Amino acid sequence: MDRDTILLAQHPQFSRWLDQVTATGGCAHPIHLKGSTTTRDACTGEILHHYDTAHEPGERLLVRCRNRRATICAPCSRLHAGDTFHLVRAGLLGGKDVPADVRDHPRLFVTLTAPSFGAVHRTTTDNQRCRPRRSAGHCEHGRPLSCPASHDTADPLTGQPLCPDCYDYPAHVLWHAHAGWLWKAFTDNLYNHLAARTGRTRTGLRRAARISYAKVAEYQKRAAVHVHAVVRLDGATGPDDPPPAWVSAEDLTAAVRTAAAAVHLHTPCSRGLGEHELHWGSELDVRPLRAFGGHEGLGDDAVAAYVAKYVTKGSADTGIGLDHPITSPDDITTGWLSAHVRTLIHTCWRLGGLPELEPLRLRAWAHTLGYRGHILTKSRVYSTTYAALRAERAEYQGAATGADVADVLDAVTEASWRYVGSGHTPGAALIAAGIAEDLLRNGEVARVALRERRADEAAS
Ligand SMILES: [Zn+2]
Ligand SMILES: [Zn+2]
Ligand SMILES: [Zn+2]
Repeated sequence: MDRDTILLAQHPQFSRWLDQVTATGGCAHPIHLKGSTTTRDACTGEILHHYDTAHEPGERLLVRCRNRRATICAPCSRLHAGDTFHLVRAGLLGGKDVPADVRDHPRLFVTLTAPSFGAVHRTTTDNQRCRPRRSAGHCEHGRPLSCPASHDTADPLTGQPLCPDCYDYPAHVLWHAHAGWLWKAFTDNLYNHLAARTGRTRTGLRRAARISYAKVAEYQKRAAVHVHAVVRLDGATGPDDPPPAWVSAEDLTAAVRTAAAAVHLHTPCSRGLGEHELHWGSELDVRPLRAFGGHEGLGDDAVAAYVAKYVTKGSADTGIGLDHPITSPDDITTGWLSAHVRTLIHTCWRLGGLPELEPLRLRAWAHTLGYRGHILTKSRVYSTTYAALRAERAEYQGAATGADVADVLDAVTEASWRYVGSGHTPGAALIAAGIAEDLLRNGEVARVALRERRADEAAS
């Protein structure tokens, strides 16, 4: 590795390579591209700008892998978390083309959970016992139904079932596979329940109001997904439109509760499994977000940060599930997975072989325990998009580096790019990691400086 680093540092274009790696933020698995971009004046055909990788180190350009997962690429996952923060925040506080008035719309932070599929060991605080009922006796498999221990989050027992034979693994997996439909049924119900509560018809409500959301999925210790969502009520056309005065945040809160409770779906009937009824867990958290400066409820900034934190975690990061799809049950032997998670993956594989469950694609999604959803999803008019945020950043960086961004309107751009590889050599990876760390530290220094300046300004 040292030799590799030395060779790299001796390369005549080493400093240009460093610039490239810095431009990727120290991405751990950059994509290597070859090609060129030519921008011409639309009228005269004059070349305004030309870029070709022929003059770059290794005749290639490195671009970010853009993976959102912290275990795969820490610098890109931080960037993605930052984008998520801005995306969620804009929907709550305005900004990025969303008017600041959205702050006065009814806005909620909602957590929907999975129901219980069997008793699991749970984390307790203040030395409380996990399942203290001493008189609970034993299950039919001879295992105790109580647990006198207290577990912290690091305890490997946390989230594991008291009895794996009692635990309903098929129900858990089938619930994951239907989570997207459960959410859809919930948002559908939401309009009906809000209409009923405010004495309108569904059509009457839809003519005056629109519900927007951004949601993120998180794996709990018991390896079941739960959903955190920001829900906002707008006027009929979206964030620019004030919501009707006859709907309050209390109405929306009540409608969320009843709409979630009313969701009942059925799995496709299976000869081996029968039919399962699917619903949300009874643990449901709904909190109104306080407007800027208020003291009641959750702060909207804190909520945006909270949601952003989850998008960088995949099922594998929490020790739940795997990074990549599996191709055979033999892939499930990976040692660091808990017995509980291994059983869930095996259950996906087994049920995935049943013809009646084929549409659920349980084998293809065995590595995420049957859950097929994106980690973050949002309704169409909630706020900005990742693509818009990336474009904004590219433009900002272009301006910051003095690149020519003028005359774009009357110019045509021809580009031809191809993928020629990815990743770093071990020596390059070491340097990239150093750059990522420096950038992170500089960012922190800048943030501290900004905070201090704001505090000074507030004090003066
Ligand atoms: Zn990356
Ligand atoms: Zn326990
Ligand atoms: Zn049992």
